[in-house]
Amino acid sequence: MSDNSKTNVPVCDLCGASASDIPVYKGNNDIHICEECLARANEMVEEEKQNTKDIFSTLPKPYDIKAFLDQYIIGQDIPKKVLAVAVYNHYKRIFGQNGDPDEVELEKSNVLLLGPTGSGKTLLAKTIAKMLDVPFAIADATTLTEAGYVGDDVENVLLRLLQNAAGHDVDNIHNWNPIVEKAQMGIIYIDEIDKIARKGENLSITRDVSGEGVQQALLKMIEGTIVGVPPQGGRKHPHQSQIMIDTTNILFILGGAFVGLEDIIKQRTGKNNMGFKEESPTKKEETNLLSLIEPHDLVKYGLIPEFIGRVPIITVLEALSEDDLLKILIEPKNSLIKQYKKLLSLDYIELEFTKKALKEIIQKAHERESGARGLRAILEESMLDIMYDAPSKNIAKVTIDADKKIKYVDRV
Ligand code: ADP
Repeated sequence: MSDNSKTNVPVCDLCGASASDIPVYKGNNDIHICEECLARANEMVEEEKQNTKDIFSTLPKPYDIKAFLDQYIIGQDIPKKVLAVAVYNHYKRIFGQNGDPDEVELEKSNVLLLGPTGSGKTLLAKTIAKMLDVPFAIADATTLTEAGYVGDDVENVLLRLLQNAAGHDVDNIHNWNPIVEKAQMGIIYIDEIDKIARKGENLSITRDVSGEGVQQALLKMIEGTIVGVPPQGGRKHPHQSQIMIDTTNILFILGGAFVGLEDIIKQRTGKNNMGFKEESPTKKEETNLLSLIEPHDLVKYGLIPEFIGRVPIITVLEALSEDDLLKILIEPKNSLIKQYKKLLSLDYIELEFTKKALKEIIQKAHERESGARGLRAILEESMLDIMYDAPSKNIAKVTIDADKKIKYVDRV
């Protein structure tokens, strides 16, 4: 108890003001607080409530998130919707809880994106992080190891998130606290998660190829744990300073093609129920099958149940059709064609693709079976000579036609 020992007059435990000058109240555990400090404390509580409310009210709604994604991502309507809701709920969970012990606890819901290569899984995760302006990092599950094996540790993923949150050279940072706080609310995308499925007794000395060890290491991070990250990266060193990152509020989006998963689902559901042919289903049929996925199918595929338990939201991306690929070339806000047009316009050159040329490009991409991934390389090939020659010629317009035919219009 605080009092003025000579006079026995209580004093405020916070500012030392005496009860002879200002009313001082006695709380539990003999704590004393004066009227002024009490008023200030109440103000602080109100301010904090208001701040949380502000963040909460500025949180984009699922509808707005989807509308943003629509500007960049063609098709994939259901995954966009699922992700928009998942992300909204995730941040609501962080900002909307008041810490009351009786409150219903909202569990974190990480997301699994299933879909073929080049269908937009990475792009979805990246675009959503961009919209929310939160730190973002991408990792490839195949390069991850349990700490101690040769390869990329799970810690390094967090380091990349931290670096992204810092936005500049980590060597010159003196106060990590705000950066850590920001990183702790970021999004991590882990690609090729299907590749760490358990594959039997195939252990090696340097690499846990069975995948289970990596799943365990990832599981801890996804569940929420505190990980020490050496800010300069590299292997952990006992004397190196570490930054502690709490992964509880980091949203994990996992992606994978899960080749062969449709067979497991087909077995479980029975092909007759589905009405599908026995031999090689079309891409559309594969997607339809995948949308019937149940967690147990993933266990059969080789993911450990605890791991699947932490990723309760699963959504399936469709293989892109030629029509989608055409749209991808021209429609998104920063589509490849728009980018090349912009590049040449900086040299005052207009760029045009004929319909036949576009068709040829998407057919080539389709043959490569890597979704929209092949588009850039194919375009880059056909654009190389133009980008090399055109700026030093007196050209007003370039038209690209099929069969590598290029037409130049001179400037007058
Ligand atoms: P995944 O992660 O599914 O393998 P990515 O998201 O990495 O595929 O896609 C590779 C590239 O292809 C993207 O950067 C983007 O340019 C393009 N792309 C893929 N899918 C789409 C889509 N649905 N809409 C627009 N662009 C796409």
